Amino acid sequence: MRTLITGGCVVTMDPAVGDLKRGDVLVEDGVVVAVGERVEAGDAEVIDAADRIVMPGFVDNHRHTWQTGFRGIGADWTFAEYLAAIHGTIRPCFRPEDVYLGNLLGRLEALSSGVTTMLDWFHCSESPAHADAAVAALREMPGRSIFCYGAGYRRQGSVEAEIRRVRADVSGDGLVTMAFGLRGAEATSIETVAEELRLADELGLRTSVHVTSDGTRRPIASLHSHGLLRDTTTFVHANGIADDELRMLAEAGSSVSISPDVELKMGFGWPMTGRVLAAGLRPTLSIDDVPAVGGDMFSAMRTAFAVQRGLDGGGDGGSGLRARDLLEFATVDAAASCGLASRVGSITPGRDADLVLLRADDLSVFPVNDPAAAIVTAGHPGLVDTVLVAGRVVKRDGELAGVDLRALRERLLESRDRVAAAAGIDLSA
Ligand SMILES: [Zn+2]
Repeated sequence: MRTLITGGCVVTMDPAVGDLKRGDVLVEDGVVVAVGERVEAGDAEVIDAADRIVMPGFVDNHRHTWQTGFRGIGADWTFAEYLAAIHGTIRPCFRPEDVYLGNLLGRLEALSSGVTTMLDWFHCSESPAHADAAVAALREMPGRSIFCYGAGYRRQGSVEAEIRRVRADVSGDGLVTMAFGLRGAEATSIETVAEELRLADELGLRTSVHVTSDGTRRPIASLHSHGLLRDTTTFVHANGIADDELRMLAEAGSSVSISPDVELKMGFGWPMTGRVLAAGLRPTLSIDDVPAVGGDMFSAMRTAFAVQRGLDGGGDGGSGLRARDLLEFATVDAAASCGLASRVGSITPGRDADLVLLRADDLSVFPVNDPAAAIVTAGHPGLVDTVLVAGRVVKRDGELAGVDLRALRERLLESRDRVAAAAGIDLSA
């Protein structure tokens, strides 16, 4: 199967290939095989990319997708209010069917806005059936998804047994893979962290962990002193950690995921973009919670960029941050944080064809004088015209392929209403 994407402005995010003002991308059996100003492809199926920016798909390495039905209800919440409402009140009322629908529509939204790789940080693990429903939804959607099982949220029974059970089911290296959401040094003992990491190693799982330290507890220094920092762990938020702890993460090759809108709105502290760069690490970006913030990576890039420019005093003198860096954080750097550096994140011959075509003729970005700047400063989901995952077209001409959106919307509304009623939440207020 060969597809030629022709005549687009190609932002490859691969310095060895460079960007092309007008270029072609040839995809064969799901893999990019050629990028150039003119690529001959014989009888390949053609996607006309005139007036389009062609870029690698976004990578969101931290999203609690099951919450999708409650989009926007936490716009004004503090973190304490989020915990009370979502984890205290709403989560216990979720059935597996509700998880399934939240994950289905949430994954679909991400795909539609160009997120080809998404880590589903799952913490609605009320029962094995809940986890299975989350995985089933990810499998049904044609995106590259990582099911990250959060260990600290299981209501009953052995976490280890459940992780092993899910791992036996999600064992391949196909489009849906698995990761392990650690409890972390703030939430449990250092012995438990060590045990969880041993289990992750045994099962071949990368790990992700929330850090919401206020700066007084030095959780990274604690992990460092116990030899528990890995290059396979992504630390989410971590706003309160000290600069020397950031350097420990850099030394270990760990990743940092910044959810700029949630961190700012819920009082986690300033997003660490500049500090992470200063420590010698490349930041990555994530969405976190759609009850509180929007679900597209354009917004995350724009917030992170503006906040760091503000912290730098209105220039790039402090951090050296440029618009293009944000695009790297949301593609190549985030791909590396997911262990997918050799697979996705850039348009490179030999890598999987996870591609997004943006409308360059839309008035919000026209005329596109600098494509990376256009994407970061003015990009939005309405520009996402076409999306390919592993060469398969999942969105074309602005329409998602092969899904009955009307029926899915109705099912999500029914689920939301049932959960809200059970939780005693009045959504009409
Ligand atoms: Zn989170």
